[in-house]
Parts: sequence; structure tokens; C-alpha cells
Amino acid sequence: MDRRYKFCPLCGDALATADEGPHPRMRCGRCGFIQYMNPAPAAGVLVRDGKGRVLLVQRRFEPFKGFWVIPSGYIEHGEDVMSTAVRELEEETGLKVEIDGIHAVESCFDDPRGDTLLTIYLGHVSGGRLLAGDDAVNAGFFPIEDLPPIGFDCQRRILGRLS
Ligand SMILES: [Zn+2]
Repeated sequence: MDRRYKFCPLCGDALATADEGPHPRMRCGRCGFIQYMNPAPAAGVLVRDGKGRVLLVQRRFEPFKGFWVIPSGYIEHGEDVMSTAVRELEEETGLKVEIDGIHAVESCFDDPRGDTLLTIYLGHVSGGRLLAGDDAVNAGFFPIEDLPPIGFDCQRRILGRLS
């Protein structure tokens, strides 16, 4: 899907492609607005239980509806990246977590809504009760040698490296 704006979101004039070398951008000749096609930042938490199983959630919505992912979501305007990770995990699994460190930072290129930059922290459960919610229809722990179908290329890479 072509996600380039046709019209300026600020002044309404038609946009034209600006010659920006390897990364052409849509630019407004009237007010100077430029559409930067940056990846959207997202964050989540990798949680493993005492048996090494990983906590995954099953997606309620497209893209990858029905596929499983590490609990994660987009960073809201003004929100700290780690706060996003903790919030998303609690919304989707009912569990509270404490963060132990960074696990992975990966680019995601197969999301039709646009590219994503995903930061996955490592964390452990500190409270709550496992219950899927929000964008998740199911939540549970899976052994890494028997994972369900995983959504998004970046999530598959992250989970594929686990041992
Ligand atoms: Zn404009």
C-alpha cells in the first residue's frame, strides 16, 4: 500500500515528490511540510516463566489477526518507551511486570500500516493475574520448541534466537 500523502495535512495543497536521493519524500511547495516516512516506534516485554516458556498473546485485529506475538504496542505521544512496554503487557495479559533490561531492538518490515521499530525489554512478573484483554484474545506461556504461528518478521527473528 502506498502510504504517501497526496495532499498537505497542514495547508491542503497538493504534495510533490522532492528529490531527496535514496529516500524520496513528499513535500509541500506552499508551506514546506515534508512527510517523513519514519518507522513507528513500538515496545513490549519478553517474559519467561520458571520453565523457560515465553508469554505470548494472540492478536484480536489485523494485521496478523489470530497470530501470536510478544505483548507489545505503539508508543503513545509523550509516553516513555519503557512505560509503553509495561502498559501494553498489562493491558494484553493482566500481568504486572518489572523490567530487567533490554532484550532486543528490531526493525519490522511486513506491517502493512508501515515499518516499525520494536524495542523488546526483558521482564519478570510482579503481580496481576493472567487474563487476555484489550488487543489480545488469548494469552499464555509457550515452550520455545513449540511456538504457535508468530506474527511479524521482527517478532519471528526475536523468538527464533531464543534458546
Ligand atoms: Zn502545506
